[in-house]
Amino acid sequence: GAALPAALDQMVTRRRRSFGATSVLFYDRPLHVVGARGATLTASDGTQYLDLYNNVPSVGHGHPKVVEAVRDQVGRLNIHSRYIIDVVDHYAERLLAHFPAPLTQVALTCTGSESNDLALRLARLATSGIGVVVTETAYHGNTAAVTEVSPSSYKKGGPPAFVRAVPPPHPAHYGADVAGGFAHAVADAVAALEADGHAFAALLVDTIFSSDGVHADPPGLLASAVAAARRAGGLFIADEVQPGFGRTGTHMWGFARHGVVPDIVTLGKPMGNGIALGGVVTRPDLLAQFAGAFGYFNTFGGNPVACAAGRAVLDALAEDGLMENARAVGAHIAERLAALRPACPAIGEVRGAGLYLGIDIVSAADGRADPEAAGRLINGLRERGILIGAAGPLGHTLKVRPPLCLTAAEADRFVGELGALLKG
Ligand code: PMP
Repeated sequence: GAALPAALDQMVTRRRRSFGATSVLFYDRPLHVVGARGATLTASDGTQYLDLYNNVPSVGHGHPKVVEAVRDQVGRLNIHSRYIIDVVDHYAERLLAHFPAPLTQVALTCTGSESNDLALRLARLATSGIGVVVTETAYHGNTAAVTEVSPSSYKKGGPPAFVRAVPPPHPAHYGADVAGGFAHAVADAVAALEADGHAFAALLVDTIFSSDGVHADPPGLLASAVAAARRAGGLFIADEVQPGFGRTGTHMWGFARHGVVPDIVTLGKPMGNGIALGGVVTRPDLLAQFAGAFGYFNTFGGNPVACAAGRAVLDALAEDGLMENARAVGAHIAERLAALRPACPAIGEVRGAGLYLGIDIVSAADGRADPEAAGRLINGLRERGILIGAAGPLGHTLKVRPPLCLTAAEADRFVGELGALLKG
């Protein structure tokens, strides 16, 4: 691309000097940000960007309730959880009240990766298996064990033999009966694991299949796959790092849209609105068995400041009506995109639920996936003050997952700019 302005070039060089090749910066012209409120990110040159990318500050960047709760708690007490601390126990009760029986207990962590790492350990201990079934472009985190169940993390090769990946639930892979086809694929993957001598432990999926390109429909689709996994003696782990905390607009958890109750639920990202807070919600028997074999302690997991943030997130979700807002504004975006499509043949399928939408960008000529066009749109939208990312195996699916406080007017601005770019 074109050379960067000198000041920006210096900042990028400085970043690379400290962080080396693992440092990832978005955009051809990386963004220098200095602040954020609601669904708006402010850059150092004063430009206000509409944020459709960041799902961690889920109740809004700088939400006053969360800021105040953190400020108050950090000045009062912040320590590990081996003492009785009211905010920790109160938060756990508030969180668990959002789960169906028999998911009545929680282990608090700091990240989604730690949550999935613990979930794998619980499932493997309970089943004496090692085999895990995931989806083809899944990402579940960054520890050694969780990387093994994250096919999207491999730039060369792929997961070990005790991990089997199945295509995500979409008619392109399974025809009209997506639920039945997906369940068959899971059952076949389990059979292949067992045939190779890898006893089956768990089916692990992100319940909105975000890195696979966002697959939410039809509601209920997971039920037969979960039944198949259980018939084969495995557990079902629902990764709620992406869809959890009301994002899908009708349910607090992605698994609930599908009418299933997992054995283990893993939480992260939006849980603390940016304060490091994650968790594993599960059945008491699974935690008891694990405690007998290993025990679990996480120094920073569920510290008082994180729990204060988590409690404020639950308050803000309810008081600001954010789940309903996610439903209404998400449906509004989908409608506006449908209206735009006739004039913009590059807009392919639009999928998702609530404020988690995937917009396929395709070639107008033949309808094929067009990741280069998606990349140009991401950079073009940034030049027009809108931040968005992409997902899916080919990277051609624009991913809309803003803070849940996004307004209909902000959504209109996005659709308007997308249309202008596509027509321009
Ligand atoms: N699960 C899913 C579905 C995720 O998207 C992510 C993060 N992108 C993780 C787990 C890992 O979470 P963390 O980065 O907090 O470790």
